[in-house]
Amino acid sequence: MYQASEQRYEKMDYHRCGHSGLKLPVVSLGLWHNFGDTAKYERMKGLCFTAFDNGITHFDLANNYGPEPGSAEKNLGIILKENFKSYRDELIISTKAGYDMWEGPYGNWGSRKYLLASLDQSLKRLGLDYVDIFYHHRMDTETPLEETMGALDQAVKSGKALYAGLSNYDGPTMKKACRILNALHCPFVINQNRYNIFDRTIEQNGLKTEAVREGKGIITFSPLAQGVLTDRYLNGIPADSRFVTDGRFLHKAQISEDRLSRVRRLNELAQSRGEDLARMALKWVLRDGAVTSVLIGASKPEQILDNLKVMDSTPFTEEELKKIDALVLG
Ligand code: NDP
Repeated sequence: MYQASEQRYEKMDYHRCGHSGLKLPVVSLGLWHNFGDTAKYERMKGLCFTAFDNGITHFDLANNYGPEPGSAEKNLGIILKENFKSYRDELIISTKAGYDMWEGPYGNWGSRKYLLASLDQSLKRLGLDYVDIFYHHRMDTETPLEETMGALDQAVKSGKALYAGLSNYDGPTMKKACRILNALHCPFVINQNRYNIFDRTIEQNGLKTEAVREGKGIITFSPLAQGVLTDRYLNGIPADSRFVTDGRFLHKAQISEDRLSRVRRLNELAQSRGEDLARMALKWVLRDGAVTSVLIGASKPEQILDNLKVMDSTPFTEEELKKIDALVLG
């Protein structure tokens, strides 16, 4: 029977999600990869235990995480039931709906029909009465925003979710959604978007500025660019890397020679700061206080421990930040 470490809250920093009452660990664990039916159950358990033992209270899912879609929720559900029953009130479990999940017109995008049915399915797979955060997973230009936001509000008002979140929204659309959710008195607390040294989209589409202005949290996915912003690919492509074992979303262009030469120079910069590249890449995401939590993935428990060292990372100098920009954007 799993017993969580008694020291689990000693080292972790918890950041408030915007102006809400919800605090999230500065590092959260995502279950997009390594929790599907192709992964080993003992390894999944090890990842969850290492995370929670070190203060990572937040596990992030979506209806479609797998493979097969739904299997990550199902597998976490088993882990929760077998090991975390007495810790439910110490955990933040999030899920999402918005991508293709089942056949026909009601298993995708942003209709009320899809979101509420999907949440019920997620709860069943997870074996939970409620999730802590329920997200709309991506913008849907065809469904009225009022309908999608109404569904998130209904999820909360029915007690099946405690908070609402938006994922992959841009600044202007998030702002409109925020007005609707405010009018409904729906606790919309967080945005989930990709953000890393290579991907500055949220700086360009207004999301980062608007989220801060509206007092909403930001949790950023793929902060390590799926492992590229680490030492993983510096000396070839390891057989146990995501590129080889599950390259559904990590393609050759993301580890091109040009990109790897930039990664090598970033790695040298990290070394000059006395840290590894993963730690520097995570610190970069957190550098100005706008981001509540970095949402990492991991194939091994040691990667989680490695990434937690971001809490000891030193602030960047202006010169270092300019150097990073020149290396990536130049
Ligand atoms: P990361 O950028 O953190 O990539 C994780 C991968 O990087 C790991 O699986 C591992 O790959 C490698 N890695 C991690 N730490 C280290 C380390 N210290 N040293 C070397 N390699 C390391 O995040 P993900 O892309 O996995 O995304 C994280 C989460 O974000 C997802 O699980 C999901 O919850 C969420 N997400 C949300 C999306 C959305 O649309 N809302 C979209 C995508 C993700 P390897 O297998 O090679 O060891």
